[in-house]
Amino acid sequence: MGKVLIIGAGGVGTVVAHKVAQNHLIFSDIMLASRTKSKCDAIARDVKRRTGVEIKTEQVDADNVPELVSLFQEFKPELVINVALPYQDLTIMDACLEAGVNYLDTANYEPKDEAKFEYKWQWAYREKFEKAGLTAILGCGFDPGVTSIFTAYAAKHHFDEIHYLDIVDCNAGDHGKAFATNFNPEINIREVTQKGKYWENGQWVETEPHEIHKPLKYPEIGPKESYVIYHEELESLVKNFPTIKRARFWMTFGQEYLTHLRVIQNIGMARIDEVEYNGQKIVPIQFLKAVLPDPGKLGENYTGQTSIGCRIRGIKDGKEQTYYIYNNCSHEEAYKETGAQGVSYTTGVPATIGGIMFMQGLWKKPGVFNVEEFNPDPFMKQLNEQGLPWHELFDVNLEV
Ligand code: NDP
Repeated sequence: MGKVLIIGAGGVGTVVAHKVAQNHLIFSDIMLASRTKSKCDAIARDVKRRTGVEIKTEQVDADNVPELVSLFQEFKPELVINVALPYQDLTIMDACLEAGVNYLDTANYEPKDEAKFEYKWQWAYREKFEKAGLTAILGCGFDPGVTSIFTAYAAKHHFDEIHYLDIVDCNAGDHGKAFATNFNPEINIREVTQKGKYWENGQWVETEPHEIHKPLKYPEIGPKESYVIYHEELESLVKNFPTIKRARFWMTFGQEYLTHLRVIQNIGMARIDEVEYNGQKIVPIQFLKAVLPDPGKLGENYTGQTSIGCRIRGIKDGKEQTYYIYNNCSHEEAYKETGAQGVSYTTGVPATIGGIMFMQGLWKKPGVFNVEEFNPDPFMKQLNEQGLPWHELFDVNLEV
């Protein structure tokens, strides 16, 4: 049992608030804080209506360390679940160290002025968290998060050596809009317009954006064109599982989405630097976010499902074997339960389970860790109980 503070009241924050409330025997006191308090209040009302559980709300600027520290000292949480934006990771970690609070997030740090994500900034906090006797759990969403835990589970139970890892992420949902992103548009567009990158034979291989693609088959969905993109969990997985010879991340995109993305880039709306407009400085991608559909509000008419998993080839008892572990999540079911769509749901549920792991003392040790460094078994059990059941297939043709 312990107090939890959730930071960020977007789509993912909505799901985390609902799921921690459903687990209120573990999370004894819950607070949701974000930049805009009215959003926290609206979520708290929904949570109360759906679960009967009261959650406290507060306004906080998570870019401001002293403001965070005074909130932490007042509420005294044992754990902060950071589901604001990757830009806030370091300020929240600094405040955790100052106020003696444990930390969990779902996305690694990105500087605002450079579309680049890397663990180096957060891994640099390792010693500080160790010395303070505090736990920091990094990347506990679905990808990164469940995909890394799936890999750890496969390594523990099904392989002596993992050689080939393909993380496959398919969203076969339809939200009925011409163009929308499924999570924060600024972060999403920065991620998918980057150059592609994958790991092969001990080094990173860079590709042009969306250069490598082919149709992959997804369970209950069928074939979908899938593109190799760089994704953050690859960085920690190849380090923590050094037998991996090749690791790639595939994501499905529709033609309409890619066309919109190309136009957005060509006309300069994906720029992350400041431009002068009517005597004011604006960042085009931030302006674009303001006019695009709010990902947290896509749920109402969203149909179809997501399918995310790991396709692994390696050696067990001297023999080669293949293994595919995945979860399919229905947007409609996610919306019924939490008022948010499947992409927010598949991120918010694992963040909550990470919180449960911490509160139960199962994932609690001083330092900064990626999720695959913990015991995957209790987490895997909770996935089945908290709404993200998983399935395994052995010796199938993985076609990748
Ligand atoms: P949203 O943009 O919907 O929500 C972000 C929330 O953070 C908003 O409520 C926003 O406030 C708040 N926020 C932003 N800046 C600050 C600040 N300085 N101080 C306080 N609050 C702030 O994003 P999502 O909910 O879609 O995503 C949340 C996180 O989850 C992101 O980091 C994203 O990268 C990550 N994610 C991880 C995935 C995974 O599988 N690992 C998948 C999808 C997302 P306001 O409402 O005022 O704008």
